Amino acid sequence: MRPTPLPNGTGSIPPIGLGTWQSSANATRSAVKHALQHGYRHIDTALNYGNEKEVGGGIRDSGVPREEIWVTTKLDNHWHHRVREGLESSLNDLGLEQEMQKLLDTGKVRNIGVSNFQISHLERLLNDPSCKVIPAVNQIELHPYNPSPKLFAYCTSKGIHCTAYSCLGGHSDSPINGRTDLLQDPIILEIAAAKGKTPAQILLKWNLQRGVSVIPKSVTPERIENNFDLEGWELSEEEFEMMTGIKTRAKVVGDGWMPIRVFTGDDE
Ligand code: NDP
Repeated sequence: MRPTPLPNGTGSIPPIGLGTWQSSANATRSAVKHALQHGYRHIDTALNYGNEKEVGGGIRDSGVPREEIWVTTKLDNHWHHRVREGLESSLNDLGLEQEMQKLLDTGKVRNIGVSNFQISHLERLLNDPSCKVIPAVNQIELHPYNPSPKLFAYCTSKGIHCTAYSCLGGHSDSPINGRTDLLQDPIILEIAAAKGKTPAQILLKWNLQRGVSVIPKSVTPERIENNFDLEGWELSEEEFEMMTGIKTRAKVVGDGWMPIRVFTGDDE
């Protein structure tokens, strides 16, 4: 699938990435390798997922040239006053220090994004006189049970691309996050049956068709392949609207991830 141009003009983002949160170390390495060898060019990780070494290992095992791969990593709130230190830790673990540090050393980082920013956070950021770079991406929870139309419209109006996390509704067996029954939703099942696609593919397509990139997590080879097999068909307008019209509301990730403490200045 062709990369999606970033509205801020700094390049293009591969629309389907592999999520890695809560993937165990061994599983992460082989999942990343499998994904890259099956066409993925975007891997999502974070310093606090504790698996960046394995992500780096999977990238090397895959044989796919580094310059073809978009890697998203993230610093969570308590690193925001130690950005360089946190980034260098991630890059060392990922084994990607060379290229990125060159960029850092020139004072340039090509794409800076934010995650879990609500409209109030973005307004505060964009209106701050020190803000010189509009975030390329806001990574947020987006799926039919949490469609966030106002936030999505706001990001679009400001030229900020959205990436959807927990786009399949999260882990059914996770000990630490919420779960949803999105993959068993009757409307999703009905559309999947009518189209001969899996419920996961239907969910991914809904976000892709509104210009949102997706980062489904899987450590299962067949699912990794299935989640990437999205070309050559579309949801009809009616199917898309049926999904947009779903009334159930549920979130996977709680507000503990919100960037409130740092970005309201109350973290001293
Ligand atoms: P997802 O919505 O991607 O769901 C993952 C679950 O779905 C796993 O249990 C996986 O199982 C299962 N699954 C994957 N593919 C299929 C399929 N085709 N059919 C049926 N089940 C499937 O959950 P996440 O919450 O992990 O979100 C995705 C990624 O987003 C994360 O891994 C992380 O990278 C990122 N994220 C970012 C956050 C942030 O605050 N910025 C917060 C949360 C997530 P299995 O692996 O066993 O195949």
